[in-house]
Amino acid sequence: MKEEACIFCRIANGEIPSKTLYEDEKYRVILDLGPATRGHALILPKDHYKNLYELPEDACGEVMHLAKKMAVRMTGKLGCSGFNLVQNNGECAGQTVMHFHLHLIPRYEDDHQNINWVPGKPGQEELEEIRKTICGQP
Ligand code: 5GP
Ligand code: ZN
Repeated sequence: MKEEACIFCRIANGEIPSKTLYEDEKYRVILDLGPATRGHALILPKDHYKNLYELPEDACGEVMHLAKKMAVRMTGKLGCSGFNLVQNNGECAGQTVMHFHLHLIPRYEDDHQNINWVPGKPGQEELEEIRKTICGQP
């Protein structure tokens, strides 16, 4: 289902024009208007799902399959030397548009981008406590 007020619903369904790299009955891949690098693109489902939690199981596989296809095609055409897939869920995780999207970010040796985090230094006890929290005992 579409949501009238959602900009990505309107772009994905062709109501708002976009630089489209790929389209089928369920997905549209567009160039990002604020790209991290040359060729930064977004996979958008045409149906409205707010985030990964709402995305149906079968769509998860389809999105990753499409990401692989686009990454191979874009790498061949753009001559990038690496590739990031980025997918933000929730404001605290950096999501600004509340319609599921997967970032396809070509990387170049001298692109001066930094898609990174500051690594923590958890001890074995802390790691074990986290593992138990997620998986239960033992
Ligand atoms: P988020 O921060 O939610 O993971 O990513 C949202 C992305 O959408 C940003 O990279 C931003 O540049 C891009 N974006 C926001 N509005 C538009 C738009 O109207 N058209 C396009 N093509 N990209 C957009
Ligand atoms: Zn939407």
